[in-house]
Amino acid sequence: MRPFRAVAAAASGSFRGGRNRISPLGPASFRRLASLASSSFGVAFDIDGVILLAHSPVGGSPRALRRLHDDSGRLKIPYVFLTNGGGYPESKRAMELRRVLGVNILPSQVIQGHSPFKDLVDRFENDLVVSVGKGDPATVMSEYGFKNVISIDEYASYFDNIDPLEPFKKWTTEPSSDHDSRRKVDVCSQRVKAVFVMSDPVDWSRDVQVLCDILRTGGLPGKEIGEQPPLYFASDDLEYQAKFPAERLGMGAFRIALEAIFNRIHPSPLMYTSYGKPNPFVFNNAEVILKHLVASFTSGSPQNRIPGIVRNHKFKTIYMVGDNPKVDIRGAREAGAPWFSILTRTGVFKERGNCAEFPADMVVDTVEDAVDFILKRECIS
Ligand SMILES: [Mg+2]
Repeated sequence: MRPFRAVAAAASGSFRGGRNRISPLGPASFRRLASLASSSFGVAFDIDGVILLAHSPVGGSPRALRRLHDDSGRLKIPYVFLTNGGGYPESKRAMELRRVLGVNILPSQVIQGHSPFKDLVDRFENDLVVSVGKGDPATVMSEYGFKNVISIDEYASYFDNIDPLEPFKKWTTEPSSDHDSRRKVDVCSQRVKAVFVMSDPVDWSRDVQVLCDILRTGGLPGKEIGEQPPLYFASDDLEYQAKFPAERLGMGAFRIALEAIFNRIHPSPLMYTSYGKPNPFVFNNAEVILKHLVASFTSGSPQNRIPGIVRNHKFKTIYMVGDNPKVDIRGAREAGAPWFSILTRTGVFKERGNCAEFPADMVVDTVEDAVDFILKRECIS
């Protein structure tokens, strides 16, 4: 049996956006909605290395995004954030982006690497599943509808001596509020049915150890070798750009480490599914979500509807603005029409010309240049 990397999930367009509540429509509002609804183009922005470096704006991103809103701050051009990052609920990420960038951003405009995990709720709704990574991965999974999810931090804490290096680790973690003996018995006796790596793991040595324990025993650490439960990664990025001048190791690097070790200690190779860019399905899903975004602005009360405009809405162009040729540009290229790729130089890619391996349709210095190019190309001032 060979390990697999294909993405099984279908494009779901699991959009859960709020509705616009502008009512009744004045002529200006009607013009804005008509312009939004008839928009023949949309934009997807990568976040790390394009909009932000760590938590700070980069490349004039606040000014660039303001141009996609009207004078009163309402959305004028449909756009989403398409990131392989994650670890927090989409609502929290939208709030953080709003605060840092100074524009109104809806949770439905934030598509993270793990957003498609919500499509697996039906399969694992009541099963014990472990979520891994920085941030608050168990809360994200609970919000998606998983009813028996536990973070790897809490899970590891119920197994005495599972991490032999723990006494040498200087940092301290907050004890979980629901860490009690009844919960311990419950968790330790249940088989883990799936593992979800939501965001970059923090304690690689412990997480590799505990995941090997879970995966090679069929979900019961310390027991005999068993069939590997399903393993899902939110993305497979080898590297990403943060504030340090050179790229940092991402979730894909962790996957390589885990896979190399697992394959030495288990008779069958590691099986896993990776989501996130550059999988074309992520781009198809983003297109569906952009269409819903357009629809949500015109589907409020009946008098707000603009009949026929949203129905069968088609984008002539969707611009992918990214900094990573292997992820953003490759994905947009493989997704095909209507995607148009724009590569910035504020992140992973820093060369003068175009990328030789995955050339973009357009290369610019910053996201502000990208928005300027898009608006000029679409004849919007
Ligand atoms: Mg990036």
